[in-house]
Amino acid sequence: MMKKRIAILGSTGSIGTQALEVIEANPEVFSVEVLTAQQNADLLIVQAQKFAPKEVVIGNEALFEKVKTALSNLPIKVYCGADALVNVVEAENVDIVLTAMVGYAGLLPTIHAIRAGKHIALANKETLVVAGELIMGLAKEHQIDILPVDSEHSAIFQCLTGEYENPIEKIILTASGGPFRGKDRAFLATVTKEQALKHPNWSMGAKITIDSATLMNKGLEVIEAKWLFGLTSNQIEVIVHPQSIIHSLVQFEDGSMKAQMGLPDMKLPIQYALHYPQRLKSTFPRFNFIDYPSLSFEKPDQETFRNLAIAYHVLEKGGNTACIINAANEIAVDAFLHDRIGFLEISDVITDTLAKVSYIAKPSYSDYVETNDEARRLASEMIHLKV
Ligand code: NAD
Ligand code: MG
Repeated sequence: MMKKRIAILGSTGSIGTQALEVIEANPEVFSVEVLTAQQNADLLIVQAQKFAPKEVVIGNEALFEKVKTALSNLPIKVYCGADALVNVVEAENVDIVLTAMVGYAGLLPTIHAIRAGKHIALANKETLVVAGELIMGLAKEHQIDILPVDSEHSAIFQCLTGEYENPIEKIILTASGGPFRGKDRAFLATVTKEQALKHPNWSMGAKITIDSATLMNKGLEVIEAKWLFGLTSNQIEVIVHPQSIIHSLVQFEDGSMKAQMGLPDMKLPIQYALHYPQRLKSTFPRFNFIDYPSLSFEKPDQETFRNLAIAYHVLEKGGNTACIINAANEIAVDAFLHDRIGFLEISDVITDTLAKVSYIAKPSYSDYVETNDEARRLASEMIHLKV
């Protein structure tokens, strides 16, 4: 059997390291061809020594000499900078690109990978939020698969297996509710980044953990689902399910619902995407009903957690509006992580940025680039005025 040859963008992060665990457990099935990281040169070096990719990229150019020297006795090409990312994804020896980097930076490498005919295992949801129409159009044109890694979207993707002729009536995305479920705005006004970084069920990178606390993560996932599964906003529901056992559901036109469930463990959706359509045997811990005698469900509180309502609003408006809120959110979350704004101000920055950036109904790639730049600049200025 031919091995699946994988490039991992963001190999030192939460998704990247778990993907390498999956690959390590299945050495006869996968080979690692490319590894990339932004800052963590030490871990990138250790990973490269262990998995022997053909190419590595360190984003931060100041760390290039360090990585190059450490790997000089191995047949590994070392590159640096954002430009190198878009070249390595096009390599002949790559079948699947796992986009496990965080934020808008995922967009351009993903476009290049699709144009080069690579299948995409998509963790970087921001790419679809920013430019879903463009990405899905390119995927169709180049006949490549976009395989969701996000657990909710993987759940839906798994439920759709064998149902390709059957239209979806609606989908239900489950949300854990994050660390502040049930809290009011007075409480949220005082929360610290340390509290926000403590997610009840998942251990993830800092940005997505804050997004989970504000419910922006679910908002981004609603938009991601629209593009992945070709749905309208009234076909996408969100339900809070604090135990994170049911990962999401699909309802068909006969009323039947299918759910995918299991313990919260990203290795399963990562492995499913990398080895699609076959399932691989795994030793992941198994779910047991007796350990979870009650699974509960609640309506999300969109008045307290405004980001989810903002995401539904931009889903209706379309154009470049999702790109605007994504950029403003990246700036606002970073400011919150640096104690420059409070938790509730994250939504204020997003709303105010959305009101200021000009609307473009049918954006081109360069419109997305300009929208992202302008939204970041305006959001940064607002934050500067607040402190
Ligand atoms: P993380 O912060 O743990 O890791 C991010 C990785 O991206 C690191 O390897 C880092 O070096 C790299 N990176 C950071 N900035 C970069 C840049 N500008 N250019 C290139 N590389 C850069 O993040 P994570 O939690 O692994 O999340 C990665 C992506 O997967 C995000 O889009 C997130 O929304 C999505 N996702 C994560 C999870 C999860 O459980 N962690 C679940 C679903 C979806
Ligand atoms: Mg998710």
